[in-house]
Amino acid sequence: MAVLPALFVSHGAPTLLLDKGPTHDFLAGLGAMLPPARAIVCISAHWETTSPRVTGAARPDTIHDFYGFPEPLYRMHYRAPGDPALAARIAKLLQAAGFAAGIDESRGMDHGAWVPLMLGYPQADVPVVQLSIQTPRGTRHHLEMGKALAPLRAQGVLIMGSGGATHNLAEFRGQALDAPPPQYVIEFDTWLENAIVTGDRRALLDYEGSAPSARRNHPTAEHFLPLFVALGAASEGTSGRKLHGAFTYGVLSMAAYAWD
Ligand code: ZN
Repeated sequence: MAVLPALFVSHGAPTLLLDKGPTHDFLAGLGAMLPPARAIVCISAHWETTSPRVTGAARPDTIHDFYGFPEPLYRMHYRAPGDPALAARIAKLLQAAGFAAGIDESRGMDHGAWVPLMLGYPQADVPVVQLSIQTPRGTRHHLEMGKALAPLRAQGVLIMGSGGATHNLAEFRGQALDAPPPQYVIEFDTWLENAIVTGDRRALLDYEGSAPSARRNHPTAEHFLPLFVALGAASEGTSGRKLHGAFTYGVLSMAAYAWD
C-alpha cells in the first residue's frame, strides 16, 4: 500500500462548491491525483474543542455550519461513512503521545471537511473521521498531534488539514470573488510557500513572529492551525510542495500543500 502524503487545503467560502474556478477544479481533481485512500482524517478549522476529539459516528451527519449563503448549499449532504475503528485508533495514538483525546459519538461533519471532500471524493465511498483543533494551544501542540498520527499514512489513511492559507474574515466581507489580492496577503502567502518548500519548520512554528503581517492574515489562528497537523505528520526535515495557488475574494489565499 502506498504511503499517502499529508495535505493542507484552503477551503475558502462554502460557495466554492457552486463557483467554478481554479480552486474548485483543483479540488475536483484531488482524489484522482493521490494514491487511493482507505480512509481520510480531516482536521478542520471549524471544529474547536478544549482537548482533542475524534468523530466516532458510523454515519456522520452533514453539518451546515454557515449562515446567509445560497440556499442550494443547505440541501447538500455528504454521505461518506465514518470509521469508528479508525477513530478509536486515532484516540489511542494521541493518548499514547500524552494528549487527553476522546471520541465524540454524535458529532457530524462540518463544512471545512465536507466542502473540499465533496469535490475531491464525490463518490463519498472513502470513510471520513474528523479530529478537532485546540486553537489556544498554538502551533507546536498541533504539530505534535500530527506526529502522533504519522504512522497512519503508511496504512492508507489520508491526513488532511482544512483551513485557509490566509483568512481575514473581517476584510473578506464585501469583496468580489475575483478581487485582486492586497499586498499584505501576497506577502504572507509568498512567505508561507517559501517556508514550506524549504522545509523551514522553525519559521512556520514561529509564524506569528517571523511571517509578514501574520496577525492581519490570521486575526484568529483556527484556519491556520490545521496546517501544523499535516506538517507534523510529515517526516522531520521533509520539505512540502505546493499543489495549488489561487486567491478568492482578494483576501483568501486558496493555497494547498502536500508533504510526502
Ligand atoms: Zn472556514
